[in-house]
Amino acid sequence: MRQPLVAGNWKMNGSKADAAALINGINAEMNKITKTEVAVCVPFPYLYLAEQLLADTSIRYGAQDVSREDSGAFTGQVSAAMLLDFGCHYAIVGHSERRMFNAESDVIVARKFMQAKKLGLTPIFCVGESLEEREGGQTETVVARQLDALLELGGIDALANGVIAYEPVWAIGTGVTATPEQAQEVHAFLRHRVAANSAEVATGLRILYGGSMKPSNAQELIRQPDIDGGLIGGAALKASDFLAICHASEALA
Ligand code: PEP
Repeated sequence: MRQPLVAGNWKMNGSKADAAALINGINAEMNKITKTEVAVCVPFPYLYLAEQLLADTSIRYGAQDVSREDSGAFTGQVSAAMLLDFGCHYAIVGHSERRMFNAESDVIVARKFMQAKKLGLTPIFCVGESLEEREGGQTETVVARQLDALLELGGIDALANGVIAYEPVWAIGTGVTATPEQAQEVHAFLRHRVAANSAEVATGLRILYGGSMKPSNAQELIRQPDIDGGLIGGAALKASDFLAICHASEALA
């Protein structure tokens, strides 16, 4: 039985005061959320704050990216060791905004994943197709290519107890959500592809849906057999919305 995970991706939003208020707002209700794992992926400058405020709570936290290098002359990058130094559990890798705006290739994303994993972080590995790719019938080809780049570099063990987020690019921040059937279809495809290498790894793999998940649609999405929670962008910026999604997951767990 996979424990559902609801993780917030705050992106480049908010101030220090906003971050503290959001963390405290979520934490205030955590005593009612016992079956769903809850995490927040905050901007790098607020990791210290997360470490201070979340020390004795059940909320896990992490970053939205990580360097593929150990250390050295890589101006502007943040290493996996640094994230661990601040108590991070998770690092998102391969978010479509980084693939698009920072030209991160499948190979770069796979290297980031392996670096995070090697140091002891749990990477949240994002995959997903653009609108053009979906309309061209390329959804499975695209997510398979993204997944296979990781499997080629790291082997199937890279995904043992792993987390994938299926995030159709056309649904991110657009208010348009994949239907539960559309999402389930891709989640099942991904799980089968992993199962072709190892049934055990596929069974333990958590596959989150991301793309305009909100309180009004969370339950019907998370109810699908291969959807194990959500990676939440916009709705993670308001404690009450994020908590409503956690409660939706909780009701099904
Ligand atoms: C995301 O960017 O990870 C995401 C899911 O965003 P949103 O929920 O705003 O679509």
